[in-house]
Amino acid sequence: MKVHEYQARELMQQAGIPVPPCEVVDSGDQVATAWERIGAETVVVKAQVHAGGRGKAGYVKLVNSPTEAQEHAARMLREPMVSKQTGPDGIQVRKVLLAAAVDIAKEYYLGVVLDRARRVPVMMASAEGGVEIEEVAEKNPDAIKKAWFHPHLGLQRFQAVQLAGEIGLRGDQAKTATKMMLQLARLFNQKDCTLAEINPLVETKDGQLLAIDAKFNFDDNALFRHPDVEGMFDPSEENPAELRAKEFNLSYIALDGNIGCLVNGAGLAMSTMDIIKLHGGEPANFLDVGGSVTAEGAVEAFRIILADARVKAVLVNIFGGIAKCDVIADALIKAAKEVGFKVPVVVRLEGTNVDKAREMLKEANIDGMHTANDLTDAAKKVCAFV
Ligand code: ADP
Ligand code: MG
Repeated sequence: MKVHEYQARELMQQAGIPVPPCEVVDSGDQVATAWERIGAETVVVKAQVHAGGRGKAGYVKLVNSPTEAQEHAARMLREPMVSKQTGPDGIQVRKVLLAAAVDIAKEYYLGVVLDRARRVPVMMASAEGGVEIEEVAEKNPDAIKKAWFHPHLGLQRFQAVQLAGEIGLRGDQAKTATKMMLQLARLFNQKDCTLAEINPLVETKDGQLLAIDAKFNFDDNALFRHPDVEGMFDPSEENPAELRAKEFNLSYIALDGNIGCLVNGAGLAMSTMDIIKLHGGEPANFLDVGGSVTAEGAVEAFRIILADARVKAVLVNIFGGIAKCDVIADALIKAAKEVGFKVPVVVRLEGTNVDKAREMLKEANIDGMHTANDLTDAAKKVCAFV
C-alpha cells in the first residue's frame, strides 16, 4: 500500500524526523487559511498523488503570495498530472500540500528498501539527491552508498555514522543525519514498510537538515498490525476495477493488451498469459478467480473484464480442481444473460465436473461463445479474433 507525502510526513514526525510545517487542502478556497497557519514568506505547493516526478511535471511550485498559491493549487486540482510515472492520461489530483519553503544549500537522498537478492533491508544514502535520483542510480550507481542490516537487529549506529561520512557530512550534520537514518530504519521495521524514502533530505543554507519529500510503501500482508497506516488508505488512487475485484476476492491486475483472461490459479493465469503471447496476442489482464470461486464471483469477473473497452476477445481457461467446471459454466451462462458477450469468448474447461459443464454450455447455446479442445487450440482461436 502506498500513502501520500502528507501522510508520510505525519509518520516521520512521529518518528522524530524533522519536517517543515505544512497544511493540506482539497480546494483553492482553503489556501488563504493554510497560508496563515504556515506563516512563512515562501511556500511550496505540491500535488498529493501516488506518483513521483511531480517536480518535473510542474506540480511542485514555489510561490511568494497566497494568491499565487491559490492559483497553482486550483490548477493542480483541475488538470490531471502527467509525469514519467503516470500513464499518458495522467492522474487526477484531489489534495494539495502547502509547506514552508526552505533555502536549499544541498539535496541528499536517504532510502530503505528490501534487497530481495540478499534477503535483508538495505539503507541507501547519496549526496546526489533530488529529482534526478533515478538517473544517478542508472548512470552513476557508485554515488549511492549502501549498508545492509539485519531485519531484527536493525541498522546499527556505526553503519549510519559510516554512511553519513561517505556522503560527505561532517560534525553536527553528520550526527543529525546518523540519527535520522536510525529513525528511518526503525520506522521501516516497525511499520512493515517495503520502501521508506526521503528525497530530498535538504541541507538548508543555515545548516539544518530537513526531510522535504518522502515516499513510503507498506506490506499489504502486514497491514492488520498497523490500523493507523491502514487508515491512510486512499481508494481514489487505486484502479477502480482492481478495487472491485478485491471485494470479490479476485486477484485482478489490469495490463495493456486486448485479450481478457479469466483463469483459476495464479500459476495457470501466468501460463495462460504466456501462451497468448506465444501465439502473437497480448493479455489485457491477469485474473485469478481462485479455488473457492462462486458463480457470483465469476460473473463479477466477467463484468470487470467486459467493462474494459480495450478487450476484443476473452479467453476462459479453467482447470477444475477445487473450483468446479459446472460453477464456471453456470457463471458463463449468467454472465451471457446479464452482460451479454459483445466480444468473442473462447472457453477451455478441463477437470472436475467437466462433462456436466460441457452439457450445460451446449444446452445454453450462448451467442459469441466458442469452445476449445485444449489450451493451444484456445490460444490460437482467441488470438485469431483480435
Ligand atoms: P517530486 O519528487 O515528486 O518531484 P519533491 O517534493 O521532491 O517532488 O520536489 C521536487 C523539488 O522541489 C525538490 O527536489 C526541491 O528542489 C524542490 N522543493 C520541494 N519542496 C521544497 C521546499 N519545501 N522548499 C524548497 N524547495 C522545495
Ligand atoms: Mg522527491
